[in-house]
Amino acid sequence: MAAARAVRMTEEAGTASLFDRVGSFLRDHRLDPTPANYAFAYHLIASPKGPVARAVEALTESGVRISQSDVDAMNLDVQAQERPDAAKKADGLVARTQMQVEGFADMVTAMRVETEGFGRDLAASAAAMTLSTDLGKGEALAASQIARITATMIARVRTAEAQLETATREASELREKLEEARDNARRDPLTELPNRRAFEEAFTVQAAAGETLCIAVCDVDHFKSVNDRFGHAVGDRVLKAIGEALSQSCPGHLVARYGGEEFAILFSGVTVDAARALMETARTTVSTKRYRLRETDAPLGEITFSAGLTCAENTERLGTAFHRADRLLYAAKSAGRNRLRIG
Ligand code: GH3
Ligand code: MG
Ligand code: MG
Repeated sequence: MAAARAVRMTEEAGTASLFDRVGSFLRDHRLDPTPANYAFAYHLIASPKGPVARAVEALTESGVRISQSDVDAMNLDVQAQERPDAAKKADGLVARTQMQVEGFADMVTAMRVETEGFGRDLAASAAAMTLSTDLGKGEALAASQIARITATMIARVRTAEAQLETATREASELREKLEEARDNARRDPLTELPNRRAFEEAFTVQAAAGETLCIAVCDVDHFKSVNDRFGHAVGDRVLKAIGEALSQSCPGHLVARYGGEEFAILFSGVTVDAARALMETARTTVSTKRYRLRETDAPLGEITFSAGLTCAENTERLGTAFHRADRLLYAAKSAGRNRLRIG
C-alpha cells in the first residue's frame, strides 16, 4: 500500500515537473503558448538527448533566447523526421493487405478445383448407390443417407466458396482505398500538386540518398487583392494556373503547393544556376501571361510571384534550408516583388 502510494507520488512529481519545465521553457524564451510551441517544448524536454534538444543547446549556448522562427524551423525538422516513419507504416499496411488478398485468391482457386472434383465424385457414387438394384433394404437406406450428407457438404462448400470470394473482393477494395488514401494525403486537391507533406518526405528521402538539393519558395504577390476584386473562386483558378506554369517550367523537379498561395520546388541534381534559370522562366511565364476572367474575358491585371532560392548544404536539415529560402523570399518582396533572390 505504502509502496503503491510512493510510486503514485513519484509519478505525480514527474508529471508535474515535466509540465513545469515545459511552461518555464516557453516563459524563459518568451514564446507564445501555442499548441505548436507546447509540442516543441514537450519534445525537447521529454527527449533531452535528442537532436532537437542538442540543436536548442547549440543555439542557446551563449545565453541567447531562442526565437519563434528558430522554433518553426526546428519543428519542421521534427515533423519531417516523423513523417517517413508514418509513411513506412502505411506502406507496410498496404503490403500486408496485398498479401492477404493474394492469399484469399489462391485459397478460393484451390478450393474450387478440389471441391469440383470431390463433389462430382461423391455425387456420382451416391447416385450410383441409390440406383443400384442389387442393394438390400439396409444398404439402400445407408446409400440415401450418404447422398443426403454429400448434398449438404457440397452446399456448405459452395457457401464457403462464395464467402471467400466476397472476402477477396472486399480485401481488394480495401487495398485500393488504402493506396488512394496514401496518395490523397500527399496531394493538394485544388492544384493536384504534391502537398507540403510530400515535399518534406521527398526532401528527407533524397537528402539521405546524398542528392544535391536546392529549394525555392514562391509566394504570389498581392494575392489577397485578386480574391478581393474577383472572388475566391477566381483566386483558386489563378493558383491552379501558377501551379501549372511552375510544373511546366521545372520538369523533373518536385513542385508542391506548400500552403495557401505558397509553392515550394525541390530541385534535385542541378546547380543553383540551373535552378535559377528554371525559376526565372516560371516567373516570366506567369508575369507576362494576360489572365482574363473566363466568363466576361475581362483582364485580371498582372499576376506575379516572388521567390527565394537556396541550395541545401550537405547534411543540412530541411528546416534550416527552408528558413533561408523563406528569408530570401521576403527580401524579394521587400525589394519590390516579382523577383527572385538567391542565397
Ligand atoms: P504579399 O505580396 O505580401 O504576399 O501579399 P498577399 O496579399 O499575397 O499576402 P497575404 O498573406 O496578405 O494574403 C494571402 C491571401 O491568400 C489571403 C488568403 O485569403 C489567400 N489564400 C490563401 N489560400 C487560398 C486559396 O486556397 N484560395 C484562394 N482563393 N485564396 C487563398
Ligand atoms: Mg503568403
Ligand atoms: Mg502572397
